[in-house]
Amino acid sequence: MKLIHKFKSLNFDKRNIKEISFVIIHYTALPSIENSIEYLCQKSNRVSCHYIIGQNGRIYNLVDEKYRAWHAGQSSWLSEKDLNSASIGIELDYSPNHNNNKFSSSLMNSLILLLMYLTKKYKIDKRNILGHSDIAPYRKKDPGVKFPWKKLYNLNLSYNPKKVKLSSIKKIRLWFEKYRIYSNKNKILIMLNIIGYDISKSTNSKYFYKILINKYRSHYFQNKSYKKSNPELIDFIEAHFCSLLLTKT
Ligand SMILES: [Zn+2]
Repeated sequence: MKLIHKFKSLNFDKRNIKEISFVIIHYTALPSIENSIEYLCQKSNRVSCHYIIGQNGRIYNLVDEKYRAWHAGQSSWLSEKDLNSASIGIELDYSPNHNNNKFSSSLMNSLILLLMYLTKKYKIDKRNILGHSDIAPYRKKDPGVKFPWKKLYNLNLSYNPKKVKLSSIKKIRLWFEKYRIYSNKNKILIMLNIIGYDISKSTNSKYFYKILINKYRSHYFQNKSYKKSNPELIDFIEAHFCSLLLTKT
């Protein structure tokens, strides 16, 4: 894996956390890699990332891994609120509205190599390889519904909820009944929260709840049809939740 060190961003500071345990994947939403590198290196923009990968697969290192790059913004996952300190940020030269609107095979192959290198180096749990939209669901939509998470989880570089036995799912359902949690919305919120998502804005807002669901879907429930009355999504989240609980123990 070849890294290009030609461009450097001054937008970084010291990590507040010693251990790097997350990788956050972004897209730039800018028309070209040249534009993006310029943007990420300009001091007044106060944003950066550790790596940016071009459509042709070239990997540029803009901030040294030992420093805290500024890519996550206000975000959270489980109890972690300073994702910039705890992560490596990777930007992909992709924009849904410009010519770079494909996750090209060169770009994906380089991303895979970089993830293999980072997960090995920092022993990063595949559950912590996340999109910006996972850690900031109310503000961000990258890497988007078209990002091929499947390619990553096929290589064990991202978490894919495993199929679980119906008997295990029944235990979850009984638990909800025991605590008198009957509405699908409340069940989903509890499960998404334990999975890692920030649900604070969704509990009292239909608008934000819908946004949260869409962000969950864009990562874990891609290309599946979902209507409001469709029970498929809650079944899927139950299986995800259950598979995660079984993995943790
Ligand atoms: Zn982003």
